[in-house]
Amino acid sequence: MTTTPLSADVLVIGWGLAGLVAASEAISAGKRVILIDQEPRSNLGGQAWWSFGGLFFIDSPEQRRLGIKDSLDLATQDWFGNAGFDRAEDHWPRAWAEAYLQFAAGEKRAWLRERGVGFFPVVGWAERGGYGAIGPGNSVPRFHITWGTGPGIVAPFAEAVHRAEEAGT
Ligand SMILES: Cc1cc2nc3c(=O)[nH]c(=O)nc-3n(C[C@H](O)[C@H](O)[C@H](O)COP(=O)(O)OP(=O)(O)OC[C@H]3O[C@@H](n4cnc5c(N)ncnc54)[C@H](O)[C@@H]3O)c2cc1C
Repeated sequence: MTTTPLSADVLVIGWGLAGLVAASEAISAGKRVILIDQEPRSNLGGQAWWSFGGLFFIDSPEQRRLGIKDSLDLATQDWFGNAGFDRAEDHWPRAWAEAYLQFAAGEKRAWLRERGVGFFPVVGWAERGGYGAIGPGNSVPRFHITWGTGPGIVAPFAEAVHRAEEAGT
């Protein structure tokens, strides 16, 4: 057996959605990327390809159109009511949750729209608490279904990787 040495700036292991997004961001930053997976290429996108493509946004145009009153404060109350975050070792999970909530209330939707991702105009109510705003779970509907479901959320990132491969970068 012969082996061919490969070199790159970035090695991404796993071509699920996390790996595809990481690879496409590195490519757009001008990096040479090697992307590998234990599964055959037909599994590009991993679980996300099979998923419903439901995405968490806070105070989106889809929610407003349906009269759903949402805000970063309400979503923070929902998440923190669920998580607890009352121990010293909760520092980083809490910091991650705060950053993710800000992302979901801010640039997340626009960032995906820029990449051609669209959303079904009806917002679902997944992970609902059922106990009002101070109980666990989402106190309002926040489940935005990607147009094209799972394959629709994978597509822009898989296409960026394909384009880079064809260009030899
Ligand atoms: C049916 C279904 C519906 C879902 N619906 C939703 C939804 O509506 N909304 C939502 O937010 N989430 C949903 N999810 C969950 C969501 O799809 C996953 O959380 C997400 O896709 C995980 O992405 P990932 O890249 O982190 O991991 P994965 O998709 O699991 O990708 C990991 C990749 O790494 C590879 N790998 C692992 N170990 C190695 C190794 N040692 N060497 C090489 N490769 C390796 C695997 O083969 C795989 O391809 C759903 C999941 C399923 C299955």
